[in-house]
Amino acid sequence: MKIIPASEPILLGNELKYVTDCIKSTWISHGSYVDLFENKFAKFCGVAHATSVASGTAALHLALVALGIGPGDEVIVPDFTFVSTANVVVYAGATPVLADINMETWNIDPGAIKRSITKKTKAIIVAHLFGHPADMDPILAVAREHDLLVIEDACESHGALYKGKKVGSIGDVGCFSFYGNKVMTTGEGGMVVSGNKGIIDRIAYLKAHAQDQKKQYMHSEIGFNYRLTNLQSAFGLAQLEHIDVVLTAKRKHAALYNTLLKSVRGIVLPPGIEWARNIYWMYSILLPSCSVRKYLMEELARARIETRPFFVPLHRLPMYKKKKSFPNSDDISDRGMSLPSSAKVTEKDIRYICKQIVRILRVV
Ligand SMILES: *Cc1c(COP(=O)(O)O)cnc(C)c1O
Repeated sequence: MKIIPASEPILLGNELKYVTDCIKSTWISHGSYVDLFENKFAKFCGVAHATSVASGTAALHLALVALGIGPGDEVIVPDFTFVSTANVVVYAGATPVLADINMETWNIDPGAIKRSITKKTKAIIVAHLFGHPADMDPILAVAREHDLLVIEDACESHGALYKGKKVGSIGDVGCFSFYGNKVMTTGEGGMVVSGNKGIIDRIAYLKAHAQDQKKQYMHSEIGFNYRLTNLQSAFGLAQLEHIDVVLTAKRKHAALYNTLLKSVRGIVLPPGIEWARNIYWMYSILLPSCSVRKYLMEELARARIETRPFFVPLHRLPMYKKKKSFPNSDDISDRGMSLPSSAKVTEKDIRYICKQIVRILRVV
């Protein structure tokens, strides 16, 4: 029997055709697919402007630089997120300040943000984890009150909605990743979106070595090489053309998981607050304890079902070690795991997975 993977890319349309077009035309680095992809992605997010970059990490890094964040500044980030949400703050020369998360959304808590503000705070990076948005309205209210910029790390939430608005379009800047395990992929890649043309123009300039528009090889500041290639953009355009099919499949899978797991004692289902449209990037649940999670993951692996544990909280990584406690982040990180979430998973797979979970948990 084949292993059911935790995640897997899905190619449904014009990927081969568009990439072949690049190869035949020899437009590999630059080319028309870059603009096409950026324009279509901006439309998808409901924003006016977008610029493509080499990764989600590059997107976040350039967002900070373009917003003028640097040495001496503090940026509030969730304690529970993928590590690059905080690393980019250090790349920019600023200091990440960790804030605890919320038990309802599993994302950064507005009250914890408030308590983390100092005179040096310049911005908040809000991560929308696993496909479920953070509660943006109270976060925006705190930001307005203290004159802080809001960057959305939407790397796991392409197409998710907060009160009807696409995530990434709500704060000052939105950042996306197209790594191979995301909802859509370009292998490696990313996108920055914003309603502010000045910010996107500045990021487009910084990502290409900060070269003067009028004079070749004239650079007035230190830029980066953070571009997305035409080849990757061609692939991304094809992926974007069928993203709605993928999102529909994932929501359908999540609904079946929810139905089959909702009455299993000890399992907490993924967040699904009434103002949110969760896209279930990873279908994720909480178990009663860390040891039950470990046992369940081992037993599911034996049943040829691949799962993933949650991120280790940043305050438990050596470079971000903190004495302060983050009880919600610790709790969710220790008890959480993601089940097979690819759009390629079948209804039969999900029924098999849930049956195994019920069988394994019966004896703990
Ligand atoms: C994937 C991810 C990133 C980084 O994206 P890369 O394209 O891998 O650099 C950043 N933040 C979150 C929350 C992510 O899941």
